[in-house]
Amino acid sequence: MALGRARLERPSRYLVDERPLPAAEIDDEIERLRRAIELAREELGVLRDRLHGSMAREVAEFIDAHSLMLADRELTSGIYDLIRQGGYRASAALKLQRDRLVAVFEAMDDPYLRSRKEDVEQVIARVQAGLQRDSSSEERKLASRIGEILVSDTVAPAELVPLAEAGVLGVVLSSGSRVSHGAILARSLHLPMVVAAHDALGAIAENDLILINGDSGEVIVHPSSADLARFRAWQRDSLQRSRQLALLAERDTRTRDGVEIALWANAESAADVALARASGAVGIGLYRTEFLFLQRRELPDEDEQFLAYRTLVLGMGGLPVTIRTLDLGADKADNSVLMLDPEDNPALGVRGVRLSLRHPQLMRTQLRAILRASAYGPVRILVPMVCASEEMTQMRALLRECARDLRSAGHEIAEHVELGAMIEVPAAAIALPGMIRQLDFVAIGTNDLVQYTLAIDRNNDHLADLYDPLHPAVLRLLAQTITIAQRARKPVSLCGEMAGDRRYTALLLALGLTDFSMHPGVLLEVRELIATLDRGALRKHAAALLRAPTRARIEAVLARMAASAATSA
Ligand code: PEP
Ligand code: MG
Repeated sequence: MALGRARLERPSRYLVDERPLPAAEIDDEIERLRRAIELAREELGVLRDRLHGSMAREVAEFIDAHSLMLADRELTSGIYDLIRQGGYRASAALKLQRDRLVAVFEAMDDPYLRSRKEDVEQVIARVQAGLQRDSSSEERKLASRIGEILVSDTVAPAELVPLAEAGVLGVVLSSGSRVSHGAILARSLHLPMVVAAHDALGAIAENDLILINGDSGEVIVHPSSADLARFRAWQRDSLQRSRQLALLAERDTRTRDGVEIALWANAESAADVALARASGAVGIGLYRTEFLFLQRRELPDEDEQFLAYRTLVLGMGGLPVTIRTLDLGADKADNSVLMLDPEDNPALGVRGVRLSLRHPQLMRTQLRAILRASAYGPVRILVPMVCASEEMTQMRALLRECARDLRSAGHEIAEHVELGAMIEVPAAAIALPGMIRQLDFVAIGTNDLVQYTLAIDRNNDHLADLYDPLHPAVLRLLAQTITIAQRARKPVSLCGEMAGDRRYTALLLALGLTDFSMHPGVLLEVRELIATLDRGALRKHAAALLRAPTRARIEAVLARMAASAATSA
């Protein structure tokens, strides 16, 4: 949950008061505008002071540019003139000035300068927001003392890191879905996020006090004292609950009938790695490297990547770390860095291993960096979006070539680094019997496997009710993948969001899964649940689960599983 002050990101939708301004009100209006500009400058100063971490310098450049614009007399004197001489109200004068400047920028030949019009829009939007503040109410006083919750239509994964670093307390989006990359990253950043709040931009005003709950998806505008009491109770309970769960940190994960289960952590950030260690994860089951590539102007070179991977490996103190090669596509990529062409269907486009094989040099750099990090602890390499055996053959050849080059240049690298594939495209799951010999291990990516099996865009909130991990086709692919890997004696884990969702723990144990990789924040809760489940009894329901032809029948089997677990407990 998070309590904060709404910061709306909808520059084009500010209410602009177009009524003529009576002469007697000119001085007051000028004063209002002056205060709004002052407020905007103060806010930028506060934002700048809060910056730290890797993105700080780049974000600071933008903030400084915006502060300079606010101090620029050319920009502001034009707005004051419009009020004084043109009889415009402040909001209308701001809009007019924005339109004029944007037109000037749009007429420029240089594409970089042309793109600077966005700065004008953002700066003017900030002043517009300042104008709409009503500093008199009690709520405003409370709101001014707490941080901001961003309310927007969408937010790109790459934008989330600087937002979190700038101290934003939470995010409310009118679109999006729980399994989008943005939502996964928000979880990693410990940033409460509510998605698909369709009328958020209409119902929430700038600076409103809002209370959000990322678990239930609730957004409360103007929370009552009862709501605030509920928030305080939640804060108390979650503290108590985390203390209680912390007692499980040192324990093994075992089912009630004594079967050892391996809980791995998915990690994107240093905080995740620390939490993975603190929660007793057996290793990192998925490290998504694409976040090293986002929100930047140039590609990270081999040394930079090596340092990041080495920090990760050292951070895990000898436990295995699974580093996934770049899984970028036009959906996630910052186009300016990788020069990816926009695609009509990025999810079906040049993504993951397809991108890697088209840019072997990009891949060599990454593989070399990972191999160099392998000198510091056990590392496995995981390839995303694999569709065909040939892709793994090519990746293995690249890996061998990089290992050979590094060794002959005198670098110390591990003798053997395992190479595995993500099973997240139905073709790979179906063709796995022919591919398994080539793989050292398998990681099932249900976020995409569900998307591609059901032909449902994981980011499309209008189809969220159809995005169903309990679809019979998905269960069959999961069961087959687990069985084929286990028969071939290859380690198999599941690292989609399903692995950390306690609604599916019993189901996955029933299908034979023994290795779960999840956000480390939920690991202890899953460990606690597993200790109450009897794997032997659950396995007996596997056939019935796979025979069930509809979701309703699958749910009925799950209910029977839960009931029999309760009686035998
Ligand atoms: C998945 O698809 O399940 C997965 C773990 O990868 P990502 O969410 O990064 O696509
Ligand atoms: Mg995936």
